Amino acid sequence: MVNGTVQTLTIAGTDSGGGAGVMADIKTMQERHVFSAAVVVAVTAQNTLGVADFMAMPKKMIDEQFKSVAEDLKIRAAKTGMLADVPTVEAVVENLKKYDLGPLTVDPVMIAKGGARLLSEDAIQTVKTELLPLATILTPNLPEAEELTGMQIKSEDDMKTAAQKLQDMGVKNVLVKGGHNISEGKSSDFVLLEDGNSFWVTSPRVDTNRTHGTGDTLSSCITAELAKGKSVEDAIRIGKRYVSATIADGIQVGHGHGPLNHWA
Ligand code: PLP
Repeated sequence: MVNGTVQTLTIAGTDSGGGAGVMADIKTMQERHVFSAAVVVAVTAQNTLGVADFMAMPKKMIDEQFKSVAEDLKIRAAKTGMLADVPTVEAVVENLKKYDLGPLTVDPVMIAKGGARLLSEDAIQTVKTELLPLATILTPNLPEAEELTGMQIKSEDDMKTAAQKLQDMGVKNVLVKGGHNISEGKSSDFVLLEDGNSFWVTSPRVDTNRTHGTGDTLSSCITAELAKGKSVEDAIRIGKRYVSATIADGIQVGHGHGPLNHWA
């Protein structure tokens, strides 16, 4: 039985407030009925009001965590989240090349909704050249897609162009998250698949400030579904539905930008 349990891995930063990062990842994987291990690459001090501070893990600790997980568990899919800085991105890339962890979802976390930078500016280039070519799916929001492509995204056509540019950088499948910014009254994301097919996934707009950890939750749900053997298209559609449900029926935690309802 134990060996048949579907196992996933999140490679990301923690959130002391419990709403985002590794905490959101594990809650999501649990709700999607897969087991999740975690390689913690950074620790943040934060709550729903914002990020007070963070510290990246030394390379040796990152290496040891990967080794411990890989020696014992059978990881079927993995994701990356907050990667902090150049040495951390480089350490993660080195380990991703060393171990077979299945399809990789890269959530290119850069700036928290509260404004805190979770990836140093110089590390964006390292992510582009070293991490993106390893990604099965990349899930940028609009600001992240703009940083990675160098273009301004103001329309649905721009989102399509950005997705193509990102695929040209070596990513197999791209999900550009438009959120509420481009399409009136709904949240629209554009998907460009490896085979060239593309489609939009949409959900109704929900007026709430309880959206902390949305990106982590979406990318974790996608990872969980890939681990179960779902196609990229199905994993993305399930992920979008799951995130919409966690936003629609919020919970009351903290005084600021609250976390999602993973029981929804
Ligand atoms: N903290 C960590 C560790 C994260 O990984 C993320 C998002 O990926 C955030 C904070 C930001 O969460 P949000 O922008 O949804 O508030």
